Amino acid sequence: MIRFFNTLGGAVEPFVPLEPGVVKLYTCGPTVYDYPHIGNWRAYVFEDLLKRSLMFRGFKVVHVMNITDVDDKTIRGARAAGVGLEDYTRPFIEAFFEERDSLNVLPADHYPRATAHIPEMVTLIKALLDKGFAYRKEGSVYFAIDMFPSYGRLSRVCLEQRRAGSRGDADEYEKESVHDFALWKSPKEGEPSWDTEIGPGRPGWHIECSAMSSRYFGPSFDIHCGGIDNIFPHHENEIAQSEAANGVKFVGTWLHCHHLVVNGEKMAKSKGNFLTLETVLGKGFSAREVRFLLLSTHYRKMLNFTDEAMHQARAGLERIRNFLVDLEDIKRDGGPDPDVVRLAERSREEFAAALDDDLNISEALAALFTFIKSANVLRDKGRLTRGDAVVLGGLVLELDDKVLGVGVAGPAVYPSPLEGTFDALVQKKIEARQAARAERDFKLADDIRMELLDMGVLLEDTKDGVRWKKIASPKN
Ligand SMILES: [Zn+2]
Repeated sequence: MIRFFNTLGGAVEPFVPLEPGVVKLYTCGPTVYDYPHIGNWRAYVFEDLLKRSLMFRGFKVVHVMNITDVDDKTIRGARAAGVGLEDYTRPFIEAFFEERDSLNVLPADHYPRATAHIPEMVTLIKALLDKGFAYRKEGSVYFAIDMFPSYGRLSRVCLEQRRAGSRGDADEYEKESVHDFALWKSPKEGEPSWDTEIGPGRPGWHIECSAMSSRYFGPSFDIHCGGIDNIFPHHENEIAQSEAANGVKFVGTWLHCHHLVVNGEKMAKSKGNFLTLETVLGKGFSAREVRFLLLSTHYRKMLNFTDEAMHQARAGLERIRNFLVDLEDIKRDGGPDPDVVRLAERSREEFAAALDDDLNISEALAALFTFIKSANVLRDKGRLTRGDAVVLGGLVLELDDKVLGVGVAGPAVYPSPLEGTFDALVQKKIEARQAARAERDFKLADDIRMELLDMGVLLEDTKDGVRWKKIASPKN
């Protein structure tokens, strides 16, 4: 039984999709007014873990992630840069896809862009006008929250202190100023505008997700995700728009991911602690280490991003990788032993069961590391055969390939344009050493071997070529 903490209702509850075996998942995507930061990636990596866990349990997941390429922020940015909206957003969209691949986040099935779905938004706004949930004011259209009695159910905003009839045009606002919000904004000087049946103008941010989710899923679907910042007003408003227009429950399960802070502080450009993936890679970490750190904190906990935490992530990955490397040394024929097969099966189930429990990644990783420990005990006793090694290593590779996605087997199975400052460097040095040996320059070859040892890399020459593993650096 899979269980999630549903923000709607605020409790852990069993997850049952509308259609057996299929999960319709909508995740709020990037607003492409800037490069994504590491906090954005925390949410996207959490969503990737959610999706992979469901797929691991046999669900088919249909995933839609929107791209907000028109809203207050993108318009402001384009104006400041003196370029059109499309030219302004393009590099940020490209960066998003590139970094998504570096972090081994599975692509969504659809990435609808807001600017390509204006007709769907207009249709939805028309329905809201027809049903009396929306009204016109000076060329704009607003949602009348008084007409929707369950407004506030998701975020539990207090409606009492609200000034009657207050309204606002901004896409983002605080809980304290809950008000009628803009579905459609009248044309303004220097802003993009579309000529439509409801008049000229451009959409508000919230209507975009309501329109694009129903375009791909219809009026109801299973899971909607975002960061906790999205709960109010964005997701509250999505529910109001969609349920008022369609008259059916919009989303069954809402999952929200907590903030990421850097060295205990909220990220802000003014504080100089605004981290992008590129800045973290620039410090010599790899994308897979970043991914491992981002996914290894439970999504409902605040994640404190520090260099120390990155080093811990690196050490965790090295433990997994070294386990696989050491298994290669087992040459004794035979097996697999039924006890070894049972150990692998039990561990696989423990790992999956932990994720079934509201994505309890700490328990899942604990199951993995306990498994590695047990296997190492058997190995140290000399009990393992080649057949056992295949089963043990196979489980780690499967969990990594299907769920964790951190590429423990190395760059070969995890190609990435931004990947592997460390692994790539090691590989280069190994190649240089091979070249030196081929030219019979054994002094140089040995110097390179010592250099690698100083980096904590131990080389092993085998008949299948050179293998390396990470050991504690003798210099540390
Ligand atoms: Zn959204």
